[in-house]
Amino acid sequence: MDNLKIEDIQDICFNISKNIILPKYQNLKDDDIKYKNGSDLVTSADIAAEKELKKNLLKIIPNSSFVGEEEYASNQNILNAYQEDNYCWTVDPIDGTTNFVNCRNKFAIMIALTKKSQILYSWIYKPLENNMSHAIFNDGAYLNNKKVKTKGVNSLDKATGSISTKYWDEKYWGSIQNLKNQFKEVNSYRCIGFEYLDIGVGQRNFAILSKLSPWDHIPGILFVREAGGSDIDFDNQPYNFSKKNNNLIVGNSKEFNLQILNKLGV
Ligand SMILES: [Mg+2]
Repeated sequence: MDNLKIEDIQDICFNISKNIILPKYQNLKDDDIKYKNGSDLVTSADIAAEKELKKNLLKIIPNSSFVGEEEYASNQNILNAYQEDNYCWTVDPIDGTTNFVNCRNKFAIMIALTKKSQILYSWIYKPLENNMSHAIFNDGAYLNNKKVKTKGVNSLDKATGSISTKYWDEKYWGSIQNLKNQFKEVNSYRCIGFEYLDIGVGQRNFAILSKLSPWDHIPGILFVREAGGSDIDFDNQPYNFSKKNNNLIVGNSKEFNLQILNKLGV
């Protein structure tokens, strides 16, 4: 762990963006784009960026484990790494691949370092802006190395956020639809990393999430927690990536999340 320097991760992200991700932005050929699991987009840039991230991150902590979104697509057993007593990197090489493919500007590299069920560090990097956010357990959340604190709203009709549109258990579907109309605004960035950052700094207020893939959530969860925000699953427990989770509420405060949970009646 002595080898871990926040700025080294920043350099790794900068170089991978410059050499692998940005050259493909607005420049993808048909054979760069594929579908995995029938519906999710993946590009040659996602795959190449993940390989390079893995190579670089494992050098920083020898014998650490690695969970990558694209590796998972062909080997679901990699999630067993979360049960081991070992440092583990979790990587989403491009969060917001659909935006990336469609030349929209919200996509990010996301990285987290965990040990057992503890999230120790996380990074969310915006390639187009060369903008790095990171969080350190029990130390804080930082936007370009400046510490951030969240702020929130106290009622649903003042709140802006997102609600997942797919993968809901049928028993929740009605209450999710009802709840939607009670917020000021519900919209999605199609890039959950950007949403976590905006919840962290208080520019957005909530995300109500289904089907939780760890690489989508571990990095942002630590950022929101360290900025003073909160997360709660439908069993009233904080998010635990080492267990199977299905639904999660992330927001600026615990009180606000509980308001949402109560309205859902779960
Ligand atoms: Mg991705």
